[in-house]
Amino acid sequence: MSNGRKSVYRKSRSGFIFQIMTKAYLDIDGVLLTKKQQPPDHVSEFIAYVINNYDCYWLTTHCRNGENKAMEYLRGFLSKMDLKSLENVKPTNWDTLKTEAIDFTSNFVWLEDYPFEAEKKILFQNNKEESLILVKLDRKEELKSVIRILKQANTALGNHKYK
Ligand SMILES: [Mg+2]
Repeated sequence: MSNGRKSVYRKSRSGFIFQIMTKAYLDIDGVLLTKKQQPPDHVSEFIAYVINNYDCYWLTTHCRNGENKAMEYLRGFLSKMDLKSLENVKPTNWDTLKTEAIDFTSNFVWLEDYPFEAEKKILFQNNKEESLILVKLDRKEELKSVIRILKQANTALGNHKYK
């Protein structure tokens, strides 16, 4: 599509419908990697779910100010299969606050471990505070819980693609 939004055909009761996918903004440190730069438990399942069900964008210090070093950075830590899945995550551009890169006109989820107060304020001002999904990898089975939250939200919206 000309606006760059990722769309899918989904089967509905009345036939196939054309649907714009919800955007997912992905942080790296604290979400795809632990503080010790280890892949967290269930990271492959998490990556597969997000890639298959969302229009994905980087929202990380490794993709900022016009430079996208996300894949280069991840190469040392994730499996080949996970890296392949992440290849088509789109870059964003921001300088001071990650919210600069967010498209507030669309539906989105933002997977982040450490949002700044200023960023939370901007989400609130845009009525999008529920789009923020806090990831805390020091909690056990955290990515599994996050997948469950995303699945519940997608089921509620009728957006579910893969169970
Ligand atoms: Mg982080």
